[in-house]
Amino acid sequence: MRNISRRSFNKTLSKGIGGVTLLSGMPLACAMGGHKQEKKKLGLALVGLGSYSTYQLAPSLVDCELCYLAGIVTGTPEKEKIWQDKYKIPDANIYNYENFDSIESNDSIDIVYVVLPNSMHADFSIRAAKAGKHVICEKPMAVSVEECDAIIEACKKASVKLSVGYRLHSEPYTQEIKRLVDEKVFGNVQYISAEAAYRSGGNPDQWRLNKALSGGGALMNMGVYAIQSAIYGTGENPISVTAQEFSSRPEYFKDTDETITAQFEFSSGAFGNIMTSHNTNVNRMYATCDKGWFELNPASSYGPLAGKTSNGDLSFPHERQQKLQMDDFARHILDDTPNVAPGEMGKRDMIVVEAIYESIEKGNSKIELKLGTIGL
Ligand code: NAD
Repeated sequence: MRNISRRSFNKTLSKGIGGVTLLSGMPLACAMGGHKQEKKKLGLALVGLGSYSTYQLAPSLVDCELCYLAGIVTGTPEKEKIWQDKYKIPDANIYNYENFDSIESNDSIDIVYVVLPNSMHADFSIRAAKAGKHVICEKPMAVSVEECDAIIEACKKASVKLSVGYRLHSEPYTQEIKRLVDEKVFGNVQYISAEAAYRSGGNPDQWRLNKALSGGGALMNMGVYAIQSAIYGTGENPISVTAQEFSSRPEYFKDTDETITAQFEFSSGAFGNIMTSHNTNVNRMYATCDKGWFELNPASSYGPLAGKTSNGDLSFPHERQQKLQMDDFARHILDDTPNVAPGEMGKRDMIVVEAIYESIEKGNSKIELKLGTIGL
C-alpha cells in the first residue's frame, strides 16, 4: 500500500490547500486502541472535465467522506477558472494534458481519476501510475485487453492502487443481488437476461460515435453494464459467448456498433442473454432461479435503482453512487479494505467485449472463454 505521508498531510494543512472542501471535512478522527488517530481526506484530481466529471463526479466529491476534489487536469483553459472558483482549487493543482506528468511532485494529489474518451484511458492511467498516484480509470477500462494489461502492469510497478469506475459495486441494490446469488437465497440461477441501452442522438461527430476515440459503440459504452449484470447476477464468469449485431440507423452509426445481443453459457449450466444498444432505451436485469427470481429495473442508471424478487420488493436508501464508489476506493487505500472494482475486473470485461466482437466477425460463431475466477 502506498504510504499516505503525515508530511504531506501537514503540508496540506499548513498551506490551506483544498480550501473549504478540505477543511470542512477534516480531520477525520477514528478511535483506535483507545487513542484518537487522525486521518486525512485523500486529494483527488479529475482528468477530463466533460459531462460525467461536471454533473456526477465533482458534485459527489463534495459529499465524500474520505476524499475531496483537490485538482483538475483539463485541455480546455476556459474551464480552469470556472472549476477553480466553484471548488476552491489552488493554482498549484491545475494541470493540462501536457504538464500533467509534473503532478508527481504534488503531495496534495493522492488519486488521479481518468474521465476521458475511452482511447485515452490507458495513456493517462499509465502516466498517473508513473507519477506515483493511485488510479481510478473510467469504464470501459480501455479499448483492448492489451491496454488493460499495460495499465495493471504500470500500477503494480509503481505500487499504486487501481480501480475501474464501476460505481454499481458500491451501490446497495447491486450488493443485495450479489448477496442473493452468493447465498443462493433462490437456489441456483438458471437464466439471466441483462439489457443496458439508451437512444443516442445529437451531434454525429461526438467521440462516442468515432471508433478511434471510443474503441466501439454501444458495447463499449453501455454493454459493459449488461456484461457486468450477467456476471454478478450469476456469480460466474461465462465460459462461452455467441453474439449478433443489428443496425437500423446505419447513416448515424457509421463507425460504431448500434445494437448487439450476446448469449452466454456458464459452467453451472446457467445461460444468459444480454442486449446493448445506442438506439433504444432499456435498463434492467432479470434472473430466474430454481426457487424464485430477482430483478433490477433500472439496473445500472445513476439511481435510485429499483428491485423486486419472488419474495417481494427490495428497498434501500439512495445516495449518489459516485460518492459511495470514490469513498470505497479511498477506504481501500487508507484501510486496505477490499478493492470492489479492481483492474482485473475491467480487464475481464474487455476480454468478454473482444470475444463478442470476434463472434460477430466470425459470423456469430461461439467463442470459448477461459476466464476462471478473474474479476469475480
Ligand atoms: P464527455 O464527452 O462529456 O467528456 C469528455 C472529456 O474529454 C471532455 O472534457 C473533453 O474536452 C475531453 N477530451 C479530451 N480529448 C478529447 C478528444 N480527443 N475528443 C473528445 N473529448 C476529448 O464524455 P463523458 O460522458 O464525460 O465520458 C468520459 C468517460 O467517462 C468515458 O470513458 C465514459 O465511458 C465514462 N463515463 C462513465 C460513466 C459511469 O457511469 N461510470 C458515465 C458517463 C461517462
